[in-house]
Amino acid sequence: MIRNGQRNEFLRRLRQGLEQLEQGFADLPEFTPAISAADSQATAIIAEVARRMTDNYPYFHPLYVGQMLKPPHPVAQAAYALAMSINPNNHARDGGRASSTLEIEAVAELARMFGWGSQQGFLGHLTSGGTFANLEALWIAGQLAPGKRILASEQAHYTHKRITSVLGIPFGSVRCDHRGRMDLNALEDELRRGDVGTVVATLGTTALGAVDPLADILALRDRYSFRIHVDAAYGGYFRLIRSALSPNAAQAFEAITYVDSIVVDPHKHGLQPYGCGCVLFRDAAVGRFYKHESPYTYFTSAELHLGEISLECSRAGAAAVALWATQKLLPLVPLGHTEDQFARGLTAGRRAAIEMDRRLREDPRFSPLPSAPELDIVVWRVTGDSTQAQHIFDTCAALGLHLALVQLPGRFFGDDNVETINCLRSVLMKPEHEQWMPEIWRRLSAAAETSP
Ligand SMILES: *Cc1c(COP(=O)(O)O)cnc(C)c1O
Repeated sequence: MIRNGQRNEFLRRLRQGLEQLEQGFADLPEFTPAISAADSQATAIIAEVARRMTDNYPYFHPLYVGQMLKPPHPVAQAAYALAMSINPNNHARDGGRASSTLEIEAVAELARMFGWGSQQGFLGHLTSGGTFANLEALWIAGQLAPGKRILASEQAHYTHKRITSVLGIPFGSVRCDHRGRMDLNALEDELRRGDVGTVVATLGTTALGAVDPLADILALRDRYSFRIHVDAAYGGYFRLIRSALSPNAAQAFEAITYVDSIVVDPHKHGLQPYGCGCVLFRDAAVGRFYKHESPYTYFTSAELHLGEISLECSRAGAAAVALWATQKLLPLVPLGHTEDQFARGLTAGRRAAIEMDRRLREDPRFSPLPSAPELDIVVWRVTGDSTQAQHIFDTCAALGLHLALVQLPGRFFGDDNVETINCLRSVLMKPEHEQWMPEIWRRLSAAAETSP
């Protein structure tokens, strides 16, 4: 949410933008809209919307440390609202001219972040989110290796299993080590069966932020020959701060350049409103699988229409405009570059996670995972009695601190006899979390002192 002083700035910029946009269409004859909402009624309805929307957790606030929620940047919000007043559709140039161009530019920036430039070639576009982006990547993977299995780790997002079932592709789950990373021995056992077409490596698992050992998976590809898809819906942007990560994560984000397809979600860490995922393919020739015969005379220009390389038809052009604007303001450059504000925001969240992990380790009431967090997600159990997790979760919420819960295999905590343990989880993805850690800790600590 945009608040106080920022709000006036936002509204001023939006008004200026809308006026300028209107001037661009000033020579059109005036017309009266056929449906006009009575002003007083519309005002009352918006007031009711505002009232009802207060029934939400404060996702935008640093005291919300629960799920993967990060507020869109004010520039993204203004650009989205401005573009939405035209409401372009990035299916085809006919429906979204400027916004298609901005999408191509914004996606090229994302590809560049992963080390892909126009020289080697790549194909990519925005999607409604990570689910659909992964669906497209696995659809292509299935076309290229019909009948072969797709593997993902048991900590991969559940969407992969579901997507392969939608696509009718056989799926296999690979065991994880105690840090939540794909176990290489388990993977090799599967590969020896000779029926694996694609391996999905997750760089930043949803539960733990664990990073699969991609460099080693690439080495296995040399021996067993399979396709590699990287699901970096959550973690993709951490490539920009790989110099500040652990050796495993740094190597994985370095190696990402050599995979076949990548998914990243600008609506997770990229400061975008929902409705913004991205899929990238290393080999632009996969575009042939998208070929279709449109009965509509819709594709009326010779330039690339995004609908020709996307499974989704209508898509919000405004999402592309918002992403483009955000990347103009906060370029996707690595840590140490002169314009690295975005990367520095990621490191602040990561430092918050390391600090929280340190406090948990020093406090006998809590038992964090044996290994340190790889990104900015922290998971811990309540020492002794893990049924306490729910109580602490509820008490924190009553104290205005919003955490999340997650179930993990007991072996992640060295407890092989317990199938699953109820854990507390924090996603520290806002740069402000670093400053707020003392207050977050104060509330967590107070909650842990109460008994159910
Ligand atoms: C969030 C997430 C997804 C699903 O993406 P949506 O944008 O929610 O559809 C897939 N994989 C990973 C690793 C994720 O974190």
